[in-house]
This record gives sequence, structure tokens and C-alpha cells, in this order.
Amino acid sequence: MHYTRSSELFRHAQCYIPGGVNSPVRAFKNVDGVPVFIKRGKGAYLYDEDGNEYIDYVNSWGPMLYGHAFPPVIQAIIDKAKLGTSFGAPTTMESQIAQLAVSMVPGIEKIRFVNSGTEAAMSAVRLARGYVGKRKIIKFAGCYHGHADGFLIAGGSGLSTLGIASSAGVTESATVDTLLASYNDLESVRSLFRKFKGEIAAVIVEPVAGNMGCVPPDNGFLKGLRNICTHYEALLIFDEVMTGFRLAKGGAQEYFKVLADIVVFGKIVGGGLPVGAFAAKSDIMNELAPVGAVYQAGTLSGNPLAMAAGYEMLRAITEDGTVYERLERKGQYLEDGMTALFRKYNIDFTINRAGSMCSIFFCRGKITNFETAHAAANDMFTRFFNGMLKNGIYLPPSSYETWFLSDALSFNDLDRTLEAVDLTIRQF
Ligand SMILES: *Cc1c(COP(=O)(O)O)cnc(C)c1O
Repeated sequence: MHYTRSSELFRHAQCYIPGGVNSPVRAFKNVDGVPVFIKRGKGAYLYDEDGNEYIDYVNSWGPMLYGHAFPPVIQAIIDKAKLGTSFGAPTTMESQIAQLAVSMVPGIEKIRFVNSGTEAAMSAVRLARGYVGKRKIIKFAGCYHGHADGFLIAGGSGLSTLGIASSAGVTESATVDTLLASYNDLESVRSLFRKFKGEIAAVIVEPVAGNMGCVPPDNGFLKGLRNICTHYEALLIFDEVMTGFRLAKGGAQEYFKVLADIVVFGKIVGGGLPVGAFAAKSDIMNELAPVGAVYQAGTLSGNPLAMAAGYEMLRAITEDGTVYERLERKGQYLEDGMTALFRKYNIDFTINRAGSMCSIFFCRGKITNFETAHAAANDMFTRFFNGMLKNGIYLPPSSYETWFLSDALSFNDLDRTLEAVDLTIRQF
């Protein structure tokens, strides 16, 4: 493989775009590489500007449940575009996708669409605070809820209870009401509720953490959060930007049989266009303007192209009774295959997986929270990533990211992936 053109394009991009990218992880900084510039995608494959082909395990960080250029979504976008691309006025497609989403996801009655997961998570917290009338929220170290100021607090080592910004430009006043707990550690949550009695509006959690590598919840963790929130009269917010419509039709709520009060969506819900959404029972959602006192708005929210793409994606899922079983079988096949190879070559590894989300940590022992994930981030992943890329497999360029399988992957693609794993570790 050669990357001449990608290297040139990256040099050019860096002249005009900070770091050459519009979202930091794309720069391949974590893996000491030069990002591959993508020309097109089809099904399970990506093709870069140098003409290299890859089997894709990023899938645009999750949205491409059926792989790239999924025909019904593409057709819907083309058809809608011909009618005009934005009106800033209500369109029928908005209610259609809203009704469909509400019918698929347990425990929600109304939904509002926005333009990104960041916006959705930010608005969900504002709504929770407005509804409950308290100011503090709890988030978990290593969980990502987009880049709104209040979420950008450090994981760090140990359990810090006061928000310390992890980005320049974020003021203390923006994070002072964000409390930090440890994932899979209910006692860390209880102790915050005891310490800040009567002040906590909500707990926000990724029901399967996907932004510290894939870290599934321990048995009872989500149920425990549900009970704690109910007990202290705080809202439980599931950030299902990754897990929504990926683990199951009804997302993590259905998969783990635990109901949240507010659910946040992104990624799949937009079918590959920029969409986020948040949803809850009517009494909570009716706190939003224009009905209620919590302000939230967007010039391009509910954009016709985005809604059409999302609608076709959700409709495909609804009409396809077995996509999650297929994804589970493919996930299991890949996990089993990699497990056998790493054992054969005597490599320390941990594979975490929930359905079609998974990741590899090159370490011994369980990865259950940010501390253990952080300790497991080492240069083995960098070598693995670069080896896999050379062998035609496009993985997320960081051990803090989750692999997303698409239904477009065939078992032959999975076998090719395992051959690439074999080749890569033999070159270690
Ligand atoms: C991707 C992601 C977000 C942010 O969504 P954007 O569309 O990138 O703003 C929020 N929460 C989780 C869990 C995510 O994975």
C-alpha cells in the first residue's frame, strides 16, 4: 500500500484547517500516523485517495449500521434534495421519524431532533435541570457526551469529585456543577448523592461506554443507577448516541432492560447525516420551549435531508427482524477468532464487546472503567493499528475508541480481517 496522495492532501489540509482535520481523532496522532483520505465507501469497504481498499470497522464512528452508501438512505437523500434542502419550517418527515423512533424505543413519548450528539446531550442536561430544578449532574470518568463545556472534565487518576476542565478555554464556572464518578462503581455514585444531598438533577451515562474503548456495564450497574436516581429524585440520562439503534431496536434500554428518564441519540439516528435527538416521556419533554420554559432551538434542526436519511435507516431496521442477531453472530465470530490468535501467539489481551461494539486492549486483566482503560493504553495498540491498516483493515485510530461492525460485513470479510490480525502479530 502507498499513501502518497493522502500525505499530500494532509499537508495541504494542514495549511487551512487546524491540524488538517475537522475533528481531532481523525488526525491519527494517537497512532503516529498520517490520516488516510477517504474517497468513497460502499458496504463494508472504504476506498482512499490512493486507491487502497479497506474493510471498515469505524463506520463513521457508528452511524453506518448497514455499511456505506446504503441504497435506501442514498435514494431518500437524492429524492428530498430535489425538493429543496431547508425551510426552517415544519415538514411532515419530522413527525414521521419522530413517531417511528418513539415506536421503537421503550419509555419515550416525545423526541426532539437537533444536529449532533453534542447538542443533544447538552440539551438533555439543560432539560433535566429545568425539569428537576436542581443544578448538579454526575458524569463518569471516561464517558464522552460531546464537547459542551460542562462535560469537559478530566478523568484523571483516582476519583476527583470536583470538576477540573480537561480543555483550555473551559472555565471553572462551567464545570463546577459536574461531579465525576467512576464507571461500574455504584458506591462512587451513592457517595456523591450523600455528599451533595438535594443538589443533583441527573446522572448521565453511556450505557455501554464507547469512548474509553468499549467498556460494557457490569451486571447490575445500570439497574443500580436506576434505583439510586429514583431514590434521590434525580433523572437518569442514557447517552445512547452510540448504543441507540445499535445494540437493539430499542437501544440499551431494551438490551439491558433498564429504563432511563431521558435518552440521547446521535450517529445511527441520522443515517450518516448530522443528526442528534433527545427523548423522554411527555411530561419531561413538555418542559421544552415553545411549551415549557427550557429553551432549545436550531436553524437546521429537523433538516429534510437529515430526517429522510434517518427515517430510511430506522425503517430499514424496523423491517429487518434479524439485523441484531446477525451483528451479534459477526461480533462473536470476530471475538472468537481474535481470541484464538492472540492466545496462539501468547499475547496479553482483553477483548470487550457488546453486540457490534468491541475493542481490544493489550493487557492482562479486566477493563471496567477509565483507570483500567487508561493503564492499558500502550504502544502495542499503535503497532497493531498500523499493521492492520497496511493489511487493509481500517480500525479506529486509538485504543480509546470502539470498533463498530456493520451488517455489510460478510463472514469472508471477517476471515480476511482475522488473516490480517495473524499477519500483523507475526510482524510484531
Ligand atoms: C459521538 C458521541 C457524542 C457526540 O456526538 P457528536 O455528533 O459527535 O457531537 C456524544 N455522546 C456519545 C456517547 C458519543 O459517542
